[in-house]
Amino acid sequence: MKSRIADSCVCCDSKDFKKSPAILMPFVAQRAFDWKPVEINKSWGLKTIKNGMAYSICNSVLCSNCFHLFLDIRFSDDEMGRLYDHYRETAYINLREKYEPGYKTRNKKLNLGYQYLNEIENFLRPFLRKSSAILDWGGDSGKNTPFQSACDFLHIYDISQRPVVGKAVRIEKNQTQNTKYDLIVCSHVLEHAPYPGDILSDIRSAMNKNTVLYIEFPYENLVRTTKNKNNLHRLKRHWHEHVNFFNERSAEELLSNSDLEILKLKKLLTSGESSEYVFQIVCKLKNS
Ligand SMILES: [Zn+2]
Repeated sequence: MKSRIADSCVCCDSKDFKKSPAILMPFVAQRAFDWKPVEINKSWGLKTIKNGMAYSICNSVLCSNCFHLFLDIRFSDDEMGRLYDHYRETAYINLREKYEPGYKTRNKKLNLGYQYLNEIENFLRPFLRKSSAILDWGGDSGKNTPFQSACDFLHIYDISQRPVVGKAVRIEKNQTQNTKYDLIVCSHVLEHAPYPGDILSDIRSAMNKNTVLYIEFPYENLVRTTKNKNNLHRLKRHWHEHVNFFNERSAEELLSNSDLEILKLKKLLTSGESSEYVFQIVCKLKNS
């Protein structure tokens, strides 16, 4: 049983970290825990509590070793299931619009898909012997998977249970170990993961010495632009679906601890409607 509140860095395992109070955004708190914001007023009759809005509180944690910035709450599998069930479908969109007006419009842009798939394919091509068998771990509907038109088959493992598109086939986690994959994609997953090392460990079991693993996650603006890294935990005041804010060092620590060897790491400013900085990492099993 993993801790509800992180007791060590989820990338390098150091127990040397600093904390600062923050809030869990209401949308996430309601989806995961059914906790809603509430206004405390004098009718509550509390003697030692001040009146005002109460939100779900948490801590921002900064690892003193690798500077990984993360939410102290680590969601359970059930909570992750509730948070990501039918991801970006009607109930999800309506609740999020209620708490975060304007989300519906933003979601329409997100639904356009990645506008930079060709850049991902160009990044990966030098490392791939072939790309006929692909597994997209957390691949949603499959529409953002690189080499999807060229591959022989595309397996999707994802907790969101969304319908898949094109030649994508949804599979269960235990089926991922029965196939030899040329390429495994894990894109925009680890920033959501309470214990990213556990996901990489599961992915490892689906890899062989020839499998190439492509990982992508955001290089969050706060981390990228803050000069004094020692202060990051005090600047991060709210947490949403991204519970891990990686930097280059914490990414390297995480992958090394997961027995993965980085072949190339690149920072990319993505093109398209929702442009953002991301880390692109291509790796293989260590010592293979
Ligand atoms: Zn660390």
